[in-house]
Amino acid sequence: MNSSFKDTVDNLLLGVCFVDCDKKITYWNRGAENLIGLNEKEVMGKKFGISKENCPVGLTLGDGEQRESDAFLKHKGGEKIHVKFRVTPIRDVQEKIVGATVMFHDMSKEVILVNKIKELQRTSSYDFLTGLPNRLMFEKALTSRFEEMQRNNREFGLLFLDIDNFKKINDNYGHNVGDLVLQMVAKKLQSTLRPYDTLGRWGGEEFVALIPHVNREQLYAVSSRLRSMVERSSLFTGDIVVKVTLSIGATLSKSDDSIDSLVKRADKLMYMSKTTGKNKVTIEMKN
Ligand code: GH3
Ligand code: MG
Ligand code: MG
Repeated sequence: MNSSFKDTVDNLLLGVCFVDCDKKITYWNRGAENLIGLNEKEVMGKKFGISKENCPVGLTLGDGEQRESDAFLKHKGGEKIHVKFRVTPIRDVQEKIVGATVMFHDMSKEVILVNKIKELQRTSSYDFLTGLPNRLMFEKALTSRFEEMQRNNREFGLLFLDIDNFKKINDNYGHNVGDLVLQMVAKKLQSTLRPYDTLGRWGGEEFVALIPHVNREQLYAVSSRLRSMVERSSLFTGDIVVKVTLSIGATLSKSDDSIDSLVKRADKLMYMSKTTGKNKVTIEMKN
């Protein structure tokens, strides 16, 4: 290696190591030293191996293929470091494999970051209490359904479901029991719906459901099934039994709808169920 090139490789944050055909280390940069805790003198001439079923360094020395994967390398102090690595063959002028370059970097920070992002995605998309898609995620599902509707001219159903007299549950039994009721209702609704329906928690004691592939009669039937399923269910907690009912508004999407107009219509229909006795389904008239 010429000296300025060596300087550059030495100072990479990446761990870089050259091995000969016996996997013996012939070069070890400062990035590798920082990651593994061993300096060049300590590793020179020692065998480099990645503790995997089939050591990728050995495989690349055998077949000349470049490999990328992740593995654990042992730090001088004993702990294992999760690294991402790439093994590339080194060939002489006759194209004969004379060794390999192994480049590796610490993945632990990446893994922590990826896990944090996943956790953030989960908490920003799902309701903590019921595990259902939250309003934001439900609106995303609605948006893609709208796009599909515009492409295929296919209408879909939207339900707005509100628990009746829920405040009384909190007042009579406490907020914790109220929470258990919300979880019970979410579970019952989910188990009554089909796999391609989407149920979400709109907020408070209000749920929404997106029901594709239905006509008006089928949408009414689905809504009635949900209403009666919840009516027949009970929450048993301690020595109390709690029962609730739902007021539902049901509507089919129209070609000139927006998310807002569709949800508002379903909400209005739900409100009609409330004002005409509760524990009811109201579906819009045929137009
Ligand atoms: P209506 O039949 O007209 O719908 O009456 P309601 O009592 O169900 O409706 P109202 O809007 O008066 O009360 C809703 C209550 O839901 C008030 C609020 O404290 C409660 N609530 C909202 N979110 C939660 C929650 O996450 N947990 C619990 N336990 N209660 C909640
Ligand atoms: Mg409400
Ligand atoms: Mg209510």
